[in-house]
Parts: sequence; C-alpha cells; structure tokens
Amino acid sequence: MSAALRTIGVVGAGQMGRGIAQVAAQSGFTVLLHDENTSALDASLGHIGGQLERQVEKGRLAPAVRAETLARLQRVTGTEAFSAADFVIEAVSENQALKARLFETLDRTCAPGVILASNTSSLSITRLAAATRRPARVIGMHFMNPVPVMELIEIVAGQATSGETIEETRALAKSLGKTAVQAQDYPGFISNRILMPMINEAIFALYEGVGGREDIDTVMRLGMRHPMGPLALADFIGLDTCLAILEILHAGLGDPKYRPCPLLRRMVEAGRLGRKSGRGFYDYAPGGAPA
Ligand code: NAD
Repeated sequence: MSAALRTIGVVGAGQMGRGIAQVAAQSGFTVLLHDENTSALDASLGHIGGQLERQVEKGRLAPAVRAETLARLQRVTGTEAFSAADFVIEAVSENQALKARLFETLDRTCAPGVILASNTSSLSITRLAAATRRPARVIGMHFMNPVPVMELIEIVAGQATSGETIEETRALAKSLGKTAVQAQDYPGFISNRILMPMINEAIFALYEGVGGREDIDTVMRLGMRHPMGPLALADFIGLDTCLAILEILHAGLGDPKYRPCPLLRRMVEAGRLGRKSGRGFYDYAPGGAPA
C-alpha cells in the first residue's frame, strides 16, 4: 500500500466499480463506495461479500481477513463524503456529459492535489480534465473486467496530466497488484482500439449470416485460443457499453471502419444489454450465469 494513500473513493458501483472497490479493500485501503442508485450500491456490497465468502470457502482467504476487508468498505450515499478521499476512481456509465458533471463536482469536493482518475473505456481524459481546475491531477485508470481477476491497468495521460500524477497512479496500480501500461489519450486508447473492432466485426458476421452465434464464438475460442468468443465477451462487457465505445471510436477517429453494426444498435434499443439485463446474444439466469 502506498504510504501517502489510505482512502480511495470509488464512484459508480456497477460491475467495474464493485470490482475496483473489492481489490482496493483487499489491498488494505479504506474504500468509500458510492452510487446514485442505492439499490445498485447495496447489490454491489452484497456481491463483494459473496465473492469474499467464496474465497473463504475455497480456503484462499482467512475468515478474519474477510471481515477486515469488509470493514474497510464504506457505503457512501453522497459525493460530499469524497472530501475524505486521498484518491478517487470514477466508474459510472460511459457517457461524456455525465462524467464531466461528476468531475466538476469531485473537483469542488476533493482536497486540492487529490488525483481524480476515470475508468472510462474510451472517452477523452483531456476533456474530463478540462471540466476541473486540476487538469494536471486528472488521469485515466482503465481496469479490465473482471477487476479482481484481470492483471492489467491501462494508464491514460491526458494533454495536461503531470508526470508526477502518472508516477503516483503507477504506484497505486502496483499496490493493487496490477501491471500498468501507458497509453496516449486517443479514442479507445490501446485496448478498445483493438478489441471493439473485433467484437463489432463478429456482430457484423452474425448480422450478415456468415455464421451463427455459436459458430462465430467457437471459431475464436478454438481457432484463435481466445478464452471467450467475441459475442459472449460483448454480453459480458455490456452491449450498451460496447455501443458507446464504438460511437466514440467512430466519432473521434472519423473512420467508417468503426461504424457500429446496426444489429448491436437494435439490441441496445430493445434493452438486450447482455449479462446485466439477462439477455444479449445469449440468455442468462439471474446473477449472470449462462442459462
Ligand atoms: P454499469 O452499468 O455496470 O455501472 C455503472 C454504474 O454507474 C451504475 O450502477 C449507475 O447507477 C452508476 N451511475 C451512473 N451515473 C452515476 C452518477 N452520476 N453518480 C454515481 N453513480 C452513477 O457499468 P460498468 O460496466 O461498471 O462501466 C462503468 C465504467 O467502466 C464505464 O466508463 C465503462 O466504459 C468502464 N469499463 C467497463 C468495462 C466493462 O467490461 N464493462 C471494462 C473497463 C471499463
């Protein structure tokens, strides 16, 4: 754990926020977890409790450590509580206006010098930083899903992000047991610049009838050794999130090769968002397991 950092604020308790909160608490930090939707917040805390319980059952975690970890997690219903945070990680829905408003609020609330990091998959860190009076202390900290399992954090430096901010964020990534890479602030950074066109192409292949969903996913699993097929992965990420990222790649890079597949758009319009809504390219039981 970094000497100067004790308390980490996490805003947004969806699938990413809850994973970030869990990893931070397990790494010894006090965590302030907030979501504007209190039922999402409660569900996330329940989910983290369940994850830790499973580790205890498997003999990987002592019951006392589980209790200490849960005691470090604080449920926070308003952003004012972030005045006590030493570092804040934002993980709300992928929407520029929403995140910019939140960064403005966090900038007013948090002590000067506190780093405000965004877990955005594709939005401009430079633009988010411009919504604050501390652009040198704003950075991208892009965790991978599921956060407790995936080792990578993509650190994204905006136009004004200082070298010190980058180094402090790298040190935090290390304290969380992750490996950091650094990407420049262009739409989709490195990870989604490569991943999303592949997922989109898989959806186009389905849309055009090149193959059925299982055929497409099996080709990538067995033929390319991907642990998950691209359609199952899109369901896992969330189809709304995939569409939002593709729109950002398309608008930000201005190249028609990033045009989101009309089938993806239609599924999002129908509320088929993947695991989180129970239905995407595949059907899921409550809790997200394949049906
Ligand atoms: P999600 O839909 O599971 O969760 C988003 C949460 O944000 C919801 O609980 C919602 O209530 C909350 N929220 C919305 N507005 C808020 C506000 N103003 N204040 C507080 N909470 C608010 O989404 P997710 O998959 O966790 O994605 C969150 C972020 O992480 C996005 O920026 C996404 O691009 C990024 N990300 C997602 C993945 C992935 O695989 N899903 C991977 C890496 C990064």
